Amino acid sequence: MNPRMLNFIPLVTNLLISHGSTRNYTEKNLLRCLFFRVFPCASVAIMPVFIKLKQHPARLFFVLLLSLAASACSQHDDDVFHDQFFAFGTLVDLTLYGVEPAAARQASELIEQDFHNTHGNWHAWETSALTRLNTQLASGATVIADPSILPLIKEANRLSQLSSGLFNPVIGELISLWGFHDNPLPVGTVPDADRIRELVAQKPSAADITINGNRINSRNPAVRYDLGAFAKGYAIDRAIVRLRKLGISNAIVNAGGDLRAIGRHGERPWRIGIRHPREVAILARIEIEGDTSVFTSGDYERFFEIDGIRQHHIIDPRSGYPADRTASVTVIYNNAATADAAATALFVAGPDEWPAIARDMGIKLVMLVDTEGVIHMNPAMQSRIQFEPGMDADVQLTEPLS
Ligand code: ADP
Ligand code: MG
Repeated sequence: MNPRMLNFIPLVTNLLISHGSTRNYTEKNLLRCLFFRVFPCASVAIMPVFIKLKQHPARLFFVLLLSLAASACSQHDDDVFHDQFFAFGTLVDLTLYGVEPAAARQASELIEQDFHNTHGNWHAWETSALTRLNTQLASGATVIADPSILPLIKEANRLSQLSSGLFNPVIGELISLWGFHDNPLPVGTVPDADRIRELVAQKPSAADITINGNRINSRNPAVRYDLGAFAKGYAIDRAIVRLRKLGISNAIVNAGGDLRAIGRHGERPWRIGIRHPREVAILARIEIEGDTSVFTSGDYERFFEIDGIRQHHIIDPRSGYPADRTASVTVIYNNAATADAAATALFVAGPDEWPAIARDMGIKLVMLVDTEGVIHMNPAMQSRIQFEPGMDADVQLTEPLS
């Protein structure tokens, strides 16, 4: 199967997960299950067509059509309100339990608006408050930070330092060099090795930034903010604050498979699937309630292949190349911004170093699938997740994290 088809999975799994399905998500089941769940909405029959389209320019249109069909269909459940929209280059899926329909629709509109505003302010390469900040910092100026990005930057810097710089929000130049600021992705080019070395040698780091009140300056001209590893989590946290202010206490905000859940799905906890990094299937399931975020960073999200080598979007700031020993990392934590930054940092840390970085970041539940297929996790994580039947899990347990 063409790996690009995997892009489709968050959409399908989101639908199934937020409806509480616990089926096996094999490829066949994903299609069958989706079809039966939303049947008789005939427009869902476009899905196989969509899959054939792969990189067709009309792909977005088909995704939109499908998500509209799916969300329209899903309104039939009396207790569950379900809505979807695009932001941060992905499908954001909102599930509310036990909220009166008019109030749910209003909440959904507000959240969609928030996501669009924040995405506009935080964009790393289209003109935004963040790109303006980058240009000013590069000139050596002291900058009055835009209030829409100041708290985000402070928190990103703090988490970066906790992660020993493995989550590094200021390597925007490197990420751009690799082409991960482009749509569609470049095919067939690894950047010039000398240029990568040069950028790594400049060592842009959160420690180069000084913040005094709302004034920011950088002592390193190579600093370029790219909050791609963290902004989605931060936006999800804001959405949860918004929901709580509206008196909503049972909800999931899910952006492309990364989510924060509060409360419960009625009488039972929320059920979440964790994607297999190499198969179109769910690897494991977890039940969550109260207030929990589940974030996964994977090498399947944005990548291109050259000579059979996967060049993906999570860059090791120490080498300047994609971190090459990890396929995916799942982190469970209460707030989404920390979970997002940690998933990226632990991905870069890889199968040997992740426990030390997890301890430094205060993360207590981690599962890392390495590129050999070995699943590394701490005992507390093992007791929380359940592998799908038929998943041959080669598990390597570490020492407890706490
Ligand atoms: P996803 O957004 O696909 O869930 P991540 O949260 O790991 O995955 O974010 C990956 C994005 O973060 C990349 O597209 C890039 O913009 C940025 N990035 C890549 N490597 C790093 C890194 N080491 N530290 C911080 N940000 C990174
Ligand atoms: Mg992340």
